[in-house]
Amino acid sequence: STQEKTPQICVVGSGPAGFYTAQHLLKHPQAHVDIYEKQPVPFGLVRFGVAPDHPEVKNVINTFTQTAHSGRCAFWGNVEVGRDVTVPELQEAYHAVVLSYGAEDHRALEIPGEELPGVCSARAFVGWYNGLPENQELEPDLSCDTAVILGQGNVALDVARILLTPPEHLERTDITKAALGVLRQSRVKTVWLVGRRGPLQVAFTIKLREMIQLPGARPILDPVDFLGLQDKIKEVPRPRKRLTELLLRTATEKPGPAEAARQASASRAWGLRFFRSPQQVLPSPDGRRAAGVRLAVTRLEGVDEATRAVPTGDMEDLPCGLVLSSIGYKSRPVDPSVPFDSKLGVIPNVEGRVMDVPGLYCSGWVKRGPTGVIATTMTDSFLTGQMLLQDLKAGLLPSGPRPGYAAIQALLSSRGVRPVSFSDWEKLDAEEVARGQGTGKPREKLVDPQEMLRLLGH
Ligand code: FAD
Repeated sequence: STQEKTPQICVVGSGPAGFYTAQHLLKHPQAHVDIYEKQPVPFGLVRFGVAPDHPEVKNVINTFTQTAHSGRCAFWGNVEVGRDVTVPELQEAYHAVVLSYGAEDHRALEIPGEELPGVCSARAFVGWYNGLPENQELEPDLSCDTAVILGQGNVALDVARILLTPPEHLERTDITKAALGVLRQSRVKTVWLVGRRGPLQVAFTIKLREMIQLPGARPILDPVDFLGLQDKIKEVPRPRKRLTELLLRTATEKPGPAEAARQASASRAWGLRFFRSPQQVLPSPDGRRAAGVRLAVTRLEGVDEATRAVPTGDMEDLPCGLVLSSIGYKSRPVDPSVPFDSKLGVIPNVEGRVMDVPGLYCSGWVKRGPTGVIATTMTDSFLTGQMLLQDLKAGLLPSGPRPGYAAIQALLSSRGVRPVSFSDWEKLDAEEVARGQGTGKPREKLVDPQEMLRLLGH
């Protein structure tokens, strides 16, 4: 059948999940894959999430670019699925649709005072320094002495590191010019990372080492939090063991002379506050902005994975001028026609096959939930691709030809939507690289979608 000859498939989202799924699908010798992306530019969190001082992580862009250069793959940016085109319309035009649109929202703290100026999500802060258009107006106020990050994951570490890194060390990264300007004026000296549970339950990984070695900053850890840990770590899995040993050494061992001197001359500090659960963001006396966080002291109940933090009844107020909530990203439903588990924040699926909807698949954070690194996302996206190709082979997808992009292009054009192609992106890319030259930056990101479209003559 024609379907066997040219399966028309589309992927929604151009982050790691979208690109790795496409890469796997292109193993089929005839399949054509269109990738739709709501931003005018590709790569999702590789561009808008990964920290500017981690350029090596962004090398995956080279692989994605190769995929996009395949004659059987096309990128269509500036197209928001659910708004510009619906999922049923895509299902009509393609043999199969893969949803890989990530996690566009953040988990709220759901505590009083959360709406006060001076409180923002780590997601928005990351988007701000990485040039995500919707966060360019954030204007975080860094005129305070102390910032509190609620959460102890890798995103919390990224945010703490960006707040504390000497700005001159960020000058040659792709951080936006505006963010670098604000960070240069920053008066933040201390950053606390607050967690409900203890050192054995932190969500961040061995990336902590970078924090410990951060120039100009010293760690503040309370040895009391680490009592008895030496015995417990014998039983924990290796990555957690290494991480806990690092924490333990930092907290309890006397630093050597060089390190002691480094710490003594450090003008900034960061610390981990364990066994603290946020209850309220405290307002300043005039009620106009955040001035601290009220924390409930907790202790642990249960063992291993089931360990929970329960309040002891004690409270503690931590004064600060900036509160960043970093308790997780969250996916949104994309279209009323697509099943969505709002409790888990994922599309219900079995190995990437969306439950009860033949021909519809998912991959990445919207499939698994918002955890895991790019490599995890790669594995799960390859698996989704594999399931789809199996279904295709088994004749489970619609037979007969499908129009693919031709039909969607007509719809988009009737709605006044002008997609951005991959070669358009390459023009924007060249422009960004050119703007970075002279200042020694790998690129100066374009942050205004209107300007991007203007540059493309759209
Ligand atoms: P995303 O990367 O979010 O991609 C989803 C894409 O879908 C986006 O481009 C989005 O614009 C698009 N989209 C959303 N809605 C629509 C719609 N309606 N229509 C069309 N398109 C849409 N991993 C590492 O390995 N190393 C790191 O250093 C690292 N740092 C990170 C730092 C941060 C702050 C965060 C949040 C994550 C980090 N990760 C890191 C994890 C990594 O980014 C994720 O594993 C990965 O990006 C998830 O891929 P995804 O494609 O599912 O989601």
